[in-house]
Amino acid sequence: MKILVANLGSTSFKYRLYDMPGAEQCGRGAIDRIGDATSSCLVEVNGQTTTTESHVPDHAAAVAMCLTQLTEGDAPPLADASELGGIGFKAVFAGELSGVRGVDDALLAEMERLADVAPAHNPPYVRAMRQLREAFPSIPLVAALETGFHETIDPADRLYACPFDWQADHAVKRWGFHGASHRYIGTRTAELLGNPNAKVISCHLGGSSSVCAIEAGESRAASMGMTPQTGLPQSNRVGDFDPFALPIVMKATGKSLDEVLGELASGGGLLGISGLSNDLRDLEEAAENGHERAELAIRHFVGQVTHYVGGFLARLGGADAIVFTGGIGENSERIRREVCEKLGFAGFRFDAARNAGLRTEGAFHADGSHGQLWVVPTNEELVVARQTHELLSK
Ligand code: ADP
Repeated sequence: MKILVANLGSTSFKYRLYDMPGAEQCGRGAIDRIGDATSSCLVEVNGQTTTTESHVPDHAAAVAMCLTQLTEGDAPPLADASELGGIGFKAVFAGELSGVRGVDDALLAEMERLADVAPAHNPPYVRAMRQLREAFPSIPLVAALETGFHETIDPADRLYACPFDWQADHAVKRWGFHGASHRYIGTRTAELLGNPNAKVISCHLGGSSSVCAIEAGESRAASMGMTPQTGLPQSNRVGDFDPFALPIVMKATGKSLDEVLGELASGGGLLGISGLSNDLRDLEEAAENGHERAELAIRHFVGQVTHYVGGFLARLGGADAIVFTGGIGENSERIRREVCEKLGFAGFRFDAARNAGLRTEGAFHADGSHGQLWVVPTNEELVVARQTHELLSK
């Protein structure tokens, strides 16, 4: 069965085509600036990459273009559009409608109702899903929700200690997120260790970041809370914060709640502390050249990652492996080194030379380390392809 995995932004559509169940990737593409006078369209099929420019008015048109791209030329990956078994979406949030499910009216209504929890993601997904249902009624659409992986967390740990009714009435609980990535890391690390019951701490550090405690492939704890704004400091979002600071800042500045929240959501995180950039590459370079706030932002980030990893080590009663993934986790030798230096107490010893050169999948623990340390590039699309295939095969 051929499965298309769709990754949507408000004006972008990226896709990968998989041949399931073997999960061979047989095409991928990206269409950017949807709705503009000229959209840029990239497609890679049979090892050949083609880039074109044309007007793509909306996401339904983007999918129509993708189907044309995948059915044209010599040896196309799809003989015709009807060969497509379904489209899987890495959808972010629909409250209790979690897990993997067909896209229907109830799901779309709930994603719309709860759009404030994931304002950057839910609206474009709902819009595109509605367009696709109308334009391609015969293609099954499947939503693999990011929160599904965290359903195995103990209910006591998914609560906030707020008035109890807020949970049922307003979806105020710890939902997790980044589920496809952490699921991939859990499964792949268990394979690498040859231990299906492995205890793994997955550190997804990138444009947005979270840490997850995994045991036997199941989530036991996650750093993100009710919204993807919480947990670790993000590139430009605040992460964990004290809600009682809000009225104090509002009174002192005369700013509205929306204004203050807007500042926390786009002027916080690494950008907020450094005052310089939301990109760790810039901060590492500036810190080397003596930029004090860039240095402070990096040290804050390391401290927060260590805080969650340390807490989750206690939750799991130790871990077989700590894994780094995402743009920062895969590329920043410094972040890995400084986090791992603090984990020596728990028996984790890293090898400086192995760590320094590592950018792809590989281990960097020292000989004799009690636990293993790995870099594992994540593959969220593969997880969504597997989940979509599994649901559609039932
Ligand atoms: P997203 O969460 O948007 O998918 P990524 O996981 O690709 O993003 O992470 C992007 C971030 O990774 C960049 O903003 C930057 O902070 C960091 N990054 C990428 N490459 C490097 C590098 N070579 N060294 C340090 N940080 C890097």
